Amino acid sequence: MKVPLLDLKGQYKGIREECRAAMDEVCDDQYFILGPKVVEFEKNVADYCGSKHAIGVSSGTDALLIALMALDVGAGDAVVTTPYTFFATGGCIARTGATPIFVDIDPVSFNIDPEKCRELLENVPERFKHLNIKAMIPVHLYGQCADMTHLLAVAKEFGLKVIEDAAQAIGSECMMDGEACRAGSMGDMGCFSFFPSKNLGGFGDGGMVVTDDSALAEKMVRLRNHGSEPKYYHPMVGGNFRLDALQAVVLDVKLARLEGWHADRRENAKLYDAAFTGTEVTPPTAVYADSGITNYHIYNQYIVRVAGRDDVRARMQNADIGTEIYYPVPLHVQECFSDLGYREGDMPESEKAAAEVIALPIYPELTEEMIKYVISNIE
Ligand SMILES: *Cc1c(COP(=O)(O)O)cnc(C)c1O
Repeated sequence: MKVPLLDLKGQYKGIREECRAAMDEVCDDQYFILGPKVVEFEKNVADYCGSKHAIGVSSGTDALLIALMALDVGAGDAVVTTPYTFFATGGCIARTGATPIFVDIDPVSFNIDPEKCRELLENVPERFKHLNIKAMIPVHLYGQCADMTHLLAVAKEFGLKVIEDAAQAIGSECMMDGEACRAGSMGDMGCFSFFPSKNLGGFGDGGMVVTDDSALAEKMVRLRNHGSEPKYYHPMVGGNFRLDALQAVVLDVKLARLEGWHADRRENAKLYDAAFTGTEVTPPTAVYADSGITNYHIYNQYIVRVAGRDDVRARMQNADIGTEIYYPVPLHVQECFSDLGYREGDMPESEKAAAEVIALPIYPELTEEMIKYVISNIE
């Protein structure tokens, strides 16, 4: 049997005609960039997330970049984030000219630890003291929300803006003040990616920023189009961060099915969880599973910890099972950030996770037989 880490062909089979009809409409219109189809999709994403505004952009990376630009983050500023994430989170901070300051993760959730954030902000290392710490970017890693209640309290206390990196977590929920809130809608801005392997993936690159703040929304609408307003007048410098209509219509078709796919991923996760409990393989902890919300986790990735990870991975490869390591090198020890003064050992939980984790196939179309095959080959 062959079980790839992700197989999008099965999903496409079920939506092929609808996608092609929607794309045909765009081709007939010849309206390819932004326009009414993008506006419609933006409205649907805003509604889905429980946010007032949504701004379609060219990728998840550009969503993070434009959110930072909207806050005027730049040289002399710093942004607090997790070192245990996809590179874009830290990369975008650096691209604005600002300095990323890393805070280690909570080993249970893999998300940034609010108490360690507070400790850092109360006792900023000497080398970062000249910087203006303007914002925080928590990442909802693997599809499970970071501890937003505590993070927002810390951010408020220290006057930081909050940009949620919800690239892996569209639709994921957590409780805030007794209310279920969706990823991206809790901070000042939330960023999504429509990279094909995300739960809501396009036919190429795409992204979105959501916010309740009308002024930020308006600013991002300008920034994604070279900061122009009106056309050919530039009160600010932006870029080309626009979303294509072809992506918007495909994503709209998929958005209508997203809740079902999330549920299928959760069902797959339950099969794995049951099989791994009490074994050498440590299943992921769904920290909000008992809080009465549906999307307590959307399992963009199903991540286990296992001793001898690299051997396990090689064995699975021999059995034709696709796996991946998200992520092998935490950001604080990436070569491009070596001038920030971090050393190996500075972020022990992130480093430990990087050495132990392995991602297993979790996509909605997996059969029970395939999942059993994965389980029988990991141990
Ligand atoms: C995928 C991802 C991004 C970047 O999204 P792209 O659309 O690939 O640019 C940013 N942050 C995280 C956590 C991601 O998983």
